[in-house]
Amino acid sequence: MVRLQQLLSIALFLLLSGSSKGTLVSGLLAEGTKWETPYYVIKGPKPGPTVFLTGGLHGNEPAGALAAEQIRHWTILMGRLVVLPRANQPGLKAETRHLPELPREHADLNRNFPRTDAENEASSLIGREIWRLAQEAKPDWVIDLHEGYHFHQIQSKSVGSTVLASRPGDQRSRPFVSRMLATVNTTVEDPRKHFVPLRGTANGSLTRAAAERLGASSLILETTTREQPLSLRARQHRLMVRTLLQDIGILGADAPPLIHPRDPLSLHVAIYDGGGTGASGPRNLQKVMKTIPRSLTWPIGPSDILEGALAHFDVVIFPGGSGSKQAAALGIKGRDKVRAFVKHGGGFIGICAGAYLAAANYSWSLKLCDYNTFCEAREIPGVGRKSMWYRGPSSTVTMQLTPAGNEIFGHGGEPLKVRYHNGPIVSRAGIPELSDYQVLAWFRSEVSRYETQRGTMINTPAIVSGKFGKGRVLSISPHPESSQNLHPLVARAIRWAGGP
Ligand SMILES: [Zn+2]
Repeated sequence: MVRLQQLLSIALFLLLSGSSKGTLVSGLLAEGTKWETPYYVIKGPKPGPTVFLTGGLHGNEPAGALAAEQIRHWTILMGRLVVLPRANQPGLKAETRHLPELPREHADLNRNFPRTDAENEASSLIGREIWRLAQEAKPDWVIDLHEGYHFHQIQSKSVGSTVLASRPGDQRSRPFVSRMLATVNTTVEDPRKHFVPLRGTANGSLTRAAAERLGASSLILETTTREQPLSLRARQHRLMVRTLLQDIGILGADAPPLIHPRDPLSLHVAIYDGGGTGASGPRNLQKVMKTIPRSLTWPIGPSDILEGALAHFDVVIFPGGSGSKQAAALGIKGRDKVRAFVKHGGGFIGICAGAYLAAANYSWSLKLCDYNTFCEAREIPGVGRKSMWYRGPSSTVTMQLTPAGNEIFGHGGEPLKVRYHNGPIVSRAGIPELSDYQVLAWFRSEVSRYETQRGTMINTPAIVSGKFGKGRVLSISPHPESSQNLHPLVARAIRWAGGP
C-alpha cells in the first residue's frame, strides 16, 4: 500500500510539474505478493525503438538493480524505455542469487523463461509476470544487468566484465556492443579488467527467450563484484546502457550518466564508497538511511563527483577507511568539487577517515573545518619514530553529547558507548578564513598505544560541527554508525546536515 501511494505521488508529481519531456507510467508486477516489484515506462515525445531494461534478477548482484533504478529517471527523446529495476525483490533483500523459498528447479529466476523449442511459458509467479510484461512491451532491445564474481579475462569461469549477446540476433547487435565496450573500457585502466564480448546465453534466460521469441536484440551486461565498489559497477552499467541508447537515438548526445531523481523526496544522500573507504561504513550507513522516510541514498565514487554528480544530493558522507587515500582517489579536482558543493550549501559528514579528510592540517585535506588533528611523529623509546594518530585496533570508548549536540542528535546528556578506530583527535587550527567549530560531543574515555598518547584524547572533541560557506559540516571521530542503538542519532544528524 505504501508503495502504491509512492507511485501515485510520482504520477501526480509528473502531472503537476509537466516539466519532463515525454511521460512516465508505472505499475507493479505480482502485486500483493512477496514478489511485488515496481516497473516504469518512460515514453519519449515521438515514436522510436523500445528498450526493455531489467536489473536484480539475481539478488546478490546489486549493481544492476541500482543502475536500473538510476536509469529509470532518464528523459528520452523518442521511443520507450521500460525499466524493471528489482526483478527479484526478496532475493535482493536477502542478498541471495536465487528466488528465496522456491524449489531448486525454479529458484534461478534467469532460468525461468521459455526454453528453446518448449512451450511459450515461464515458470514461477514472478517469472510469468516479467515474461508477460516483456511480451506486452514488444521490445526492440532487451538489456539485462548482472554481475560476475571475477574479471572474465583473469578468471574465465566467471562472466564478470563481459557483454553477452543472445542468439539469434547477435550479428545484428555486434556493432552496438563494440561501441558500448569501447566507451566503458576507456574508464578501466587495467587491460585485464576490460569488458569483452561473449556470444550465447543460458537456456531459460530472459534475454535468450526474448531473442528467440520476441525477435529482440538481447544483451546481458555483467560487471565484476570483486574488489570494486558498488558505485563504480553501477556506473559501468550506466555508461554501457547510455552508449546504446545514444546509438539508437533515444538518448541525447549530452545526456549525463547520472541525473536527478524524478520522485519528490525530502533528502538525497550520497555515500562515498570509492578509494580509501572500508566496506562496513557504507553498509551501516545504508541501514541508517533506510530508517529515514522519503529519502534516497546512492553510493558515489570519484568519477561521479568529477562529473558533477554531487549536484543531485543534499548531503555527502565520507565514511571510515583512510582519509589520505580518499583524498588521493578524489584528486585535486575531485576535492575542489566537494569543497564547492559544501560552499554552495551541501551538507558534509565525515566519519573517522572522513573527519581527517575535512581537517585543516594536511596538504591533501579539504580544509572544511577549523581543526588540526593530532598526528605528529614522536620518538618512542625502544620502538622508534611513531605517528600519534594510531591508537590500536577497534575499541569501545565513552562519549558525551553537549547541549548543542543533544539538539542535533536528539539524545540526553548521559554518556554513550561508541566504537572508536583511530579517528582524529582534534584541536583548533585558528585559520582566519574558516569559521569556528562547535563541539557536539566530548570523549569521556580514551585508548592509547604509546605512553606519549596518554591523556591526549579524553575530554577532547569527539564530534564537532561547523559552517563552510553555506553548507553544514559534521565531523565525527568515532563510529556511531557501527552501533544499531545509535542509528536514530545518526539519522537525525544526517537530516540536520541536509538542512539550511
Ligand atoms: Zn546474474
